[in-house]
Amino acid sequence: MIDFQAISPLQRTWLLELGLERAFLARLPQARPASQSAPAQEQAGTPVAPAAVERKLDDASSFVTKPAPARGVASDAMTAARDQALALLRKPGARPVVAAPVEDSLAQKPTVLIQPEKTQDMASLLEQVQACQECGLYTGRAQVVFGSELLVEPDWMIIGEAPGTSDDRSAQPFDGKAGLLLQAMLNSAIPNASIYKTHLVKCRPLGNRPPTQEELAACRAFLDAQIRLVQPRRLLAVGLLAAVALSGRDEDLEALRGQTLAYTDSLGRSLPLVVTYHPASLLLRPQHKANAWRDLSLLRELQAQS
Ligand code: SF4
Repeated sequence: MIDFQAISPLQRTWLLELGLERAFLARLPQARPASQSAPAQEQAGTPVAPAAVERKLDDASSFVTKPAPARGVASDAMTAARDQALALLRKPGARPVVAAPVEDSLAQKPTVLIQPEKTQDMASLLEQVQACQECGLYTGRAQVVFGSELLVEPDWMIIGEAPGTSDDRSAQPFDGKAGLLLQAMLNSAIPNASIYKTHLVKCRPLGNRPPTQEELAACRAFLDAQIRLVQPRRLLAVGLLAAVALSGRDEDLEALRGQTLAYTDSLGRSLPLVVTYHPASLLLRPQHKANAWRDLSLLRELQAQS
């Protein structure tokens, strides 16, 4: 007959928790009082870390056998029970005892002040855009689409209305098919020009819808700051929304095309502004490509003047 060591109520609870059979545990002798030798941590009911659980399993096998039993039915049963308990702990979906995660709210994140009008460098302007929640578009963005690779005083700054799906994925403005068409047009008209690209709003509207007036207004200060810091020599607005926003003239696209308009920056500088179709619109309406080519000829003329 195997001489089992007594187990305490707490040890019984642990073994039940670990999957040992209730009937098997019932055969073990009842406990000494917990206060005599149970660790203070257990008496207080303190949760125990996973490594300690493994130790308890080892302990469990030691306190149910005294001394080490000869191999036999009871020994095999205990080994099987221990293996079963270990397997339960290790199987996918088992609920390990883990340290409580540090609350996100406790992590101190630096506050970013959104004040594009006062920003003196592109890095802090980008930081503000990345932290911005000034309009609802922030909820749908994978990432902000700030602008293409930074150039100082580029020949042209190309401004569209909003990032599309590809832009949102790559964080690059005018990515995707429309961007390829735009680049092909620019390469043919002003092949040696330096170009910086961005949009009126920096976050993608879901479903590629146009941005609302509220969203345009919320993001406008970022664009004005961007133009002030990049200091382009000329602007090209692609699409009606960009044309109206930059020219300040509430007219249709055909009325705004074919001439050199003006954008006045926050420092009072007046920059030449040309308007043309959005390349996505040219993909849908290729009949406008001839007119677009006339607009590009105007770009070439302005480029040749400097
Ligand atoms: Fe902020 Fe502009 Fe994005 Fe709106 S679109 S959340 S204003 S960065």
